[in-house]
Amino acid sequence: MIQYHVFPGGKKRVVTFSYDDGHINDERLAKLFTEKGIKATFHLHGKYTENLTETEVTNLRKRYEGHEISCHTLHHGWPTRMPQQSLVNEILENRKHLENIANYPVVGMSYPSGDYSDETDSVFKACGIVYSRTVNSTNNFPLPTNFLQWHPTCHHSSALALCDKFLNNIDSEWTLPLFYVWGHSFELTTEEDWAYMDTLLDKISGNDKIWYATNIEIYNYMTAQRQLVISLDEKTFTNPTALDLWVEKDKTQIIKIPAGQTVRI
Ligand SMILES: [Zn+2]
Repeated sequence: MIQYHVFPGGKKRVVTFSYDDGHINDERLAKLFTEKGIKATFHLHGKYTENLTETEVTNLRKRYEGHEISCHTLHHGWPTRMPQQSLVNEILENRKHLENIANYPVVGMSYPSGDYSDETDSVFKACGIVYSRTVNSTNNFPLPTNFLQWHPTCHHSSALALCDKFLNNIDSEWTLPLFYVWGHSFELTTEEDWAYMDTLLDKISGNDKIWYATNIEIYNYMTAQRQLVISLDEKTFTNPTALDLWVEKDKTQIIKIPAGQTVRI
């Protein structure tokens, strides 16, 4: 039996952080994440990305370096309350601005006001969006089953207790693997708030059993895993993707299949 729940380096746990709206506090928060070795995704809407000078573009690119820049629509409307043609414009214009800043294709998203439906899924998909985060906390650690309705573990304000739960069960076969925290950096208004974040990040960082990743890195890795070609006797593995991949066999053996290679065991 082969199972996919193994991540880069053969690790079995994943941590990601995701922040909405763009704010000057992102600067301090991104630095804090970098300092602790944690990867985050920042979802930006048009207010922070329209009519920028070249210097402003360069500064934003620098601010989010090492993390992911991701969509949040142009004007932060309610996706389920607009004609599809408006929604298309909201997504594509947001993407264009962000790609100018990021210098890479921006295909991730979080829903403004957490608003989505099965119907909007198809619009986001048609606009090239491959994942989008909701604000529906699971208070648990599931991997997404539908990337366009990716439910986080919790808001950062309730993350400390869940962080302990996640770490206490880190070696358990029966607990789920992804700790996904979301929030807004503008909520960090006092030094106590920043001290809270510092405590949370200290707790969760520097653990060699955890893969620290951005949202898109998790999407890319999980999607690539599903492209592995595996023989019926589960002894030959072909990896046609550009990412090194890992799987677990019979709950005991971790197998690495390097990018573009076939592995026989
Ligand atoms: Zn928002």
